[in-house]
Formats: sequence, structure tokens, C-alpha cells
Amino acid sequence: MTDNLTKPPFDLASPPEDPPEACVDPVMWATARELLAEHEPVDGYCESCETTEFPCAGRSLADQGLQTSCGVRAPMWDFWTHLMQVKAEHAEH
Ligand SMILES: [Zn+2]
Repeated sequence: MTDNLTKPPFDLASPPEDPPEACVDPVMWATARELLAEHEPVDGYCESCETTEFPCAGRSLADQGLQTSCGVRAPMWDFWTHLMQVKAEHAEH
């Protein structure tokens, strides 16, 4: 397993519902945490993706959102950063 990213400041296998101290974007954390809950496998099966592959696409994306919210440079960093910008703009209008 190659791991050249900074280690996330929380347990990726079971991230807490509340953002950890290292979290710099609580809204992003909450959004990613919600996504992760939807892709929580039951007996190794993700009902949202209908797959036994783990992590499934949604779970993998959520994992990276959690890491991005804690300042970890995950591969989907850009996606999450832009998503939060769109959300913030909607909240303003
Ligand atoms: Zn899934």
C-alpha cells in the first residue's frame, strides 16, 4: 500500500460525526460525513451503489471529503473545494 499523503487526523475506518479539532471546514465535514453514511456497507454490500466493492465510489469520495475538510491534500481536493464554494454562494442568495 502506498501512502504518500499526509495521514488524516482521524480514524478513516470510522470517522466521528462531529468534526475533529483539525477540521478547517465543518460544513464540508458534515456534507462528506452524510455521504459516507449513505455508503456505509451492510454486510460488505453498499445499497446505494449496489456493489460489494469496498470502498465503493461514494465511500471513496466521502473519505476524501473528510480528509480535505481537515486540510489533507486528497486527490478529490478540488472537487470538494469547489462544491463548498457553490454551496456557499447558494446560501448567500
Ligand atoms: Zn456506495
